[in-house]
Amino acid sequence: LSSIILCSSPPPSMVRITWTPISSPKLGKQPEDFKFGRILGEGSYSTVVLAREQATGKEYAMKILEKMHIRKENKAHCVTRERDIMSSLDHPFIVKLYFTFQDVKRLYFGISYARNGELLKYIRKIGSFDETCTRFYSAEIVCALQYLHSKGIIHRDLKPENILLNEDMHIQITDFGTAKQLSSDSTQSNLTHITKYSTLVCLPLIVLRNDYLKFQKIIKLEYEFPDKFFPNAKDLVEQLLCLDPSNRLGCEEMGGYNPLRAHFFFEAVTWENLHLQTPPKLT
Ligand code: ATP
Repeated sequence: LSSIILCSSPPPSMVRITWTPISSPKLGKQPEDFKFGRILGEGSYSTVVLAREQATGKEYAMKILEKMHIRKENKAHCVTRERDIMSSLDHPFIVKLYFTFQDVKRLYFGISYARNGELLKYIRKIGSFDETCTRFYSAEIVCALQYLHSKGIIHRDLKPENILLNEDMHIQITDFGTAKQLSSDSTQSNLTHITKYSTLVCLPLIVLRNDYLKFQKIIKLEYEFPDKFFPNAKDLVEQLLCLDPSNRLGCEEMGGYNPLRAHFFFEAVTWENLHLQTPPKLT
């Protein structure tokens, strides 16, 4: 794999980006190979567009990044990191990066299309999921995180906007723009459990408009369970939202992912083939 090389200090107009696609040059794709459709979403540095490959009829979510914008914002290293991390991943609950290519102005990432969009959309529509749905989607997220952590990758921005749903309503975790590959001697990452559990249970534990105050409460672990919080999930959340990372359920010191998967909230889960199961209808 090669990378984007960004010269360090010249003004933006003089900076050159060198990008070698991950597919071999012979198989290299170009924008003309695709029919571009509707915009699926927009991020700070990209627009994601539905694209159909003319030759195969296959649909992709094409993430398109303007080189000029990346240069101006000095984000070339982040784009490279995102591309390298994504191309190393292959898991049913994580979006797949199939290819990359470029033209004069843009970089293109061909990603598996998650037809049912963001989990956030369903949370907004439904409010909070019932216990069966919460358990099922929590279990899928746990599987995805276990896979990432087994590869030494921490996502660092896991939230309902970045958990997409495919045609069969299984999760597809996306947005590796702030993910990090830990060096081999690092200890297991600290999972960002609060994020995770307000996502999983779809009920915010800390509700404050002001981000600074919210952050203060998070680091002091000041949270309250809403009235309708599932009793079985309460214990799980308490064991995950533990200030000392070495006492947190799921961390290496606590025996890794097995005790987390064995928690009684997950008792009804058959872990081995989650991606082949039919997800419960979201209610
Ligand atoms: P951010 O600024 O939040 O870091 P980003 O520039 O990294 O965003 P993404 O989060 O990857 O961009 O994508 C932006 C939005 O596009 C997503 O929130 C989602 O709505 C949509 N999107 C991204 N990837 C896909 C996909 N594979 N299938 C369907 N929609 C997608």
